[in-house]
Amino acid sequence: MNSIYHQPEHTVLRDQIARFLRDEVEPYGMQWEQQGYVPRDVLQRLGKAGLLGLMFETAYGGAACDAVTNLVFAEALSQSTFAGFVITVLVHTDMASPHLHHAGNPVQKQRYMPSIISGDCIAAVAMTEAGSGSDVAAMRSHAKRDGDGWLLNGSKLFITNGVHANLYFIAARTGPAKHQISMFIVEKNTPGFSVGRSLDKTGWLSSDTAELVMDNVRLGPEALLGEEHQGFYSLMKNLQTERIALAAMAIGCSTRALQLTLDYVRERQAFGKSLWDQQTIRQRLSMMDAKTRAARQFMYHCAWSVTQGHDIVQEVSMLKALTGELVNEVVQTCQQFHGGMGYMREAAIERLWRDARILAIGGGATEVMLEEVAKRY
Ligand SMILES: Cc1cc2nc3c(=O)[nH]c(=O)nc-3n(C[C@H](O)[C@H](O)[C@H](O)COP(=O)(O)OP(=O)(O)OC[C@H]3O[C@@H](n4cnc5c(N)ncnc54)[C@H](O)[C@@H]3O)c2cc1C
Repeated sequence: MNSIYHQPEHTVLRDQIARFLRDEVEPYGMQWEQQGYVPRDVLQRLGKAGLLGLMFETAYGGAACDAVTNLVFAEALSQSTFAGFVITVLVHTDMASPHLHHAGNPVQKQRYMPSIISGDCIAAVAMTEAGSGSDVAAMRSHAKRDGDGWLLNGSKLFITNGVHANLYFIAARTGPAKHQISMFIVEKNTPGFSVGRSLDKTGWLSSDTAELVMDNVRLGPEALLGEEHQGFYSLMKNLQTERIALAAMAIGCSTRALQLTLDYVRERQAFGKSLWDQQTIRQRLSMMDAKTRAARQFMYHCAWSVTQGHDIVQEVSMLKALTGELVNEVVQTCQQFHGGMGYMREAAIERLWRDARILAIGGGATEVMLEEVAKRY
């Protein structure tokens, strides 16, 4: 096979990640689920292997790969049955740090990019607040001019890597008009900035999710990321990368759930034959696989369109809605075919089922994505 996402370098990357998952993730994932976070040294090992900076500039230690290769990384990583680990990494590489990559000036990049790429500095991105999630522009956190710098106040909710990050890309209102929002770089130890407890969730248990509080946080002029008042547009741009990465999680999870279930139903005997020998079971699995493969093609088509510089907001919104719903259909069916075992915490399919739920909500809920699609016809 030699399509745009099956180039020889992609095979090397997939193999490297598969080895990392086998040796460094699968044996420890349960422990991380219990403690509620992924240890820092795991991310540093990913950094050392050159896997945290695939899309970033070589000047800072990155690999300057294109969007397709970056997606190969995200999809391969998402084959892990520990999606809490996967989202910890992908928020760092594909959702938070791209803000610096796209909008940072050379001084800001020189200061933070090398340690982001090495895994010594972990990043988070904070848009959501208690009163505004889907409606990003309704945020109330605000930054006012303070001398030549800024005074930041407000709070953020549901922030992935919130507890264990060192560096936060925070969106705040900088003017009265709806879209007058700017992005700020906030280091964890900045006075007035505090992190709440890790929130208790349904799934993604090894990913820490927190509330952030900004209480008169004084920031210098160097904290402004990109142009003043342009943060909303920067968020919308970065959300395209984020949504393709979330689609990769959905496709990776669906693929893994189907593999686990194929193995299980071939083995499991009922009424004198294997479950695979029941026509209804093998046909439904075949259909799920067909849908997953079709969605995967569409996902890589979207990444290829990014490399061509096309405007693909409508397609990415479709992709996010499609894959977020599909993965839930797949894991629920796969769990059903595991019978009672599928409801046991020791079964990977049970975790995949819990972990998949958020993929239809986070980073753009299905309904909101479909509105983005519809308004572009
Ligand atoms: C585990 C987890 C991790 C997260 N990580 C981060 C993070 O790192 N950074 C960050 O900034 N945010 C993060 N989020 C926030 C996440 O992106 C939001 O929860 C999501 O965008 C939905 O926003 P909301 O929760 O406010 O729901 P709401 O916006 O209140 O939506 C509630 C429901 O109403 C529907 N709805 C809303 N508007 C419309 C409409 N116009 N038409 C039809 N239906 C509509 C939605 O689809 C949804 O079903 C995280 C959330 C979770 C749960």
